[in-house]
Amino acid sequence: MKTIAVIFVFLIFIGSVQAQKLPYKMEELTAPDFVKAVAESAETCILPIGVFEKHGPHMPLGTDLLAAREIACRAVQQEYAVVFPWYYFSQINEARHQPGTIAYSPDLIWKILQETLDELNRNGFKKIIIVNGHGGNNAFLNYFGMAQLSEKRNYALYVFQPSENSEVVKKAEGLTFHDPFDQHAGNTETSSMLNIVPQLVHKERAGEQSGVDQQRMKELKNIYSGIWWYARFPNHYSGDGSKAAAEAGKLLNDDEVGQLVETIRKVKADKVVPELQNQFYKDAENPLKTKQ
Ligand SMILES: [Zn+2]
Repeated sequence: MKTIAVIFVFLIFIGSVQAQKLPYKMEELTAPDFVKAVAESAETCILPIGVFEKHGPHMPLGTDLLAAREIACRAVQQEYAVVFPWYYFSQINEARHQPGTIAYSPDLIWKILQETLDELNRNGFKKIIIVNGHGGNNAFLNYFGMAQLSEKRNYALYVFQPSENSEVVKKAEGLTFHDPFDQHAGNTETSSMLNIVPQLVHKERAGEQSGVDQQRMKELKNIYSGIWWYARFPNHYSGDGSKAAAEAGKLLNDDEVGQLVETIRKVKADKVVPELQNQFYKDAENPLKTKQ
């Protein structure tokens, strides 16, 4: 009887601990809990960005969407922040010739990102961390970040840019191989996805198309053209996913999650960016008064 009572008290205790734990996925929060989550996160929201695009012949269209959100969700379990729902309004014009690409216009992806940030800010978030899962967004996000200075904002935008850990890469390659064209749906990304959604990865189909660099612009040195990616990888596949392994993906994902946890902690504590922004916006209102 005594044992049953102890178990009962223990279960109530576990239940209350669980009840107190706020969900980190924004779509799972009630409105009253959302208010608590904004405070609990130190007004920090993570916006994972993916896309719908071909990932070689062997991985799902939503690969970047699934990966970015999973990395964010794993990180906030160690350092709390709210994770924004599925977001796939990305720069992907270079894959418009491939089935399943959802390429919104440049104007729209700009506007929807700006309005999403503005709406998050109106709802109390002062710090927003973008976790980008799609390489085609890199230039867009850097420019978008710079453009935030064009008018006064009441929030700070931080774009997470993890660095490559050569030790981890070496270990991952030891479990698989060194993929010379490993940029899109190749060894690294396929391994990462085998650790996230193994049931959606068809490794046995990875050799059905070529992910080798076709170098069709190689004579045009010192030139940038928007067609560069299509010139090199027209199959929208760069690398070779056929030798990928889940254990290698786990090493790479754990490393990225670790870097993101560290980033969330630093962003939550950061006073530098908000203070500098405020000073900058003030100075920019009257540049003639800026000390020369
Ligand atoms: Zn991808």
